[in-house]
Amino acid sequence: MKVLLLGSGGREHALAWKLAQSPQLTALFALPGNPGIAAHATCIDGVPLDDHDAIVSICGSHGIDLVVVGPEAPLVEGIADRLAAEGIAVFGPRRAAAQLEGSKLFTKELCKAHDIPTAAFGRFTDAASAREFVRRRGAPIVLKADGLMAGKGVIVATSLEQALEGVDAVFAMGAEGGGFGTEILIEDYLEGEEVSFFCLVDGESVLPFGSAQDHKRAFDGDEGPNTGGMGAYSPAPVFTAEMERRTLTEIIKPTARALADAGCAYRGVLFAGLMITRDGPRLIEYNVRFGDPECQVLMTRLDGDLLPLLEATATGGLGDYTVAMKPDAAITVVMAANGYPGAYARGSRIAGIEAAETVPGVKVFHAGTKRASEDLVADGGRVLNVTAIGANVAEARERVYDAVARIDWPEGFCRSDIAWRALGE
Ligand code: ATP
Repeated sequence: MKVLLLGSGGREHALAWKLAQSPQLTALFALPGNPGIAAHATCIDGVPLDDHDAIVSICGSHGIDLVVVGPEAPLVEGIADRLAAEGIAVFGPRRAAAQLEGSKLFTKELCKAHDIPTAAFGRFTDAASAREFVRRRGAPIVLKADGLMAGKGVIVATSLEQALEGVDAVFAMGAEGGGFGTEILIEDYLEGEEVSFFCLVDGESVLPFGSAQDHKRAFDGDEGPNTGGMGAYSPAPVFTAEMERRTLTEIIKPTARALADAGCAYRGVLFAGLMITRDGPRLIEYNVRFGDPECQVLMTRLDGDLLPLLEATATGGLGDYTVAMKPDAAITVVMAANGYPGAYARGSRIAGIEAAETVPGVKVFHAGTKRASEDLVADGGRVLNVTAIGANVAEARERVYDAVARIDWPEGFCRSDIAWRALGE
């Protein structure tokens, strides 16, 4: 089978690495890919992911059987609709179903209509009503602007004062024409531990793909600014078999059914951001693609062939498959450029990846690198994902930091406490 993978991050490197191990794969292409992906795929440069015409024409000229979409933006922009219209199989939901990630209001209304457990909420288009609602509910309370905000549209307000200021800030952004802030969602604060849970969905069948927890803050102790994710581990100990069973019956399956009934069946990986509360799992958000860096630990734990699973997700028949995960634990540590998530420099030289990969169970995924003549250089905020698998979390942790120490990149930093919760630290 000939596969085209869209994307260029650590998530896509992990997918490419796993796809390349498939006996069913005859050729792998990546658009645009990165230097790590280039070890497994032919990378195609110079075509932006929003150029759907060009992607369709690449599929034609390369005889692509399946397109695997890594990031969310092309899905929200309708790449799956376009490819399907051309008769090309695609792993990733169509635009209507991708609203699960593209619009928080869409997801909240779907939850409300189908009794899917999530935080109670109100939605407002004017600041005065929003302020009144906040006063009535009290703090802590959570404010969300609608739309794809890359994590920047959410305010978890711990005091009433902060919540009221937040309401004004969201509407001020809207007034400036930022494309958001014209409607605000205000929801109850959920207390508990957060978990990411992934399922493959082919429209009808739902196949659990494992759990993970990530670390969003830049520095040790979960301190510092929010980032795209500084590390992750899988499985998440808090996500017991009972929590998984409840999440499937109370949240994931009703969602898949509701979308199918509405005529926009979901095909792809459904990533549920959950809060495990005293009363059970509650949905915080949906994403319509694998998490980055969660994908790196899931692919490391996946036992067996990824390609037939992605193909069956795209074309149907997922009910005939099972997902086997190694019982081992996997950890990924993100190495980021100094300064990230603020301003950072590009172009510093990176060495030592081969030495890092001599540590048993270690694989280094490229997230933001490029080749500059003979050198590998940093070319992004999050640059490398050093990933290790071990018999347990402690062994994976030892291996991953042994590998990190072998990477020669003075201009980068990473957290030293990834998976602290799983280790009971
Ligand atoms: P991201 O880019 O991180 O996925 P997002 O903009 O899609 O963010 P959410 O995932 O809905 O927004 O919220 C971001 C974070 O805010 C969550 O990971 C969680 O830590 C916190 N959060 C959101 N909703 C709630 C809630 N109801 N109660 C407690 N915390 C919440």
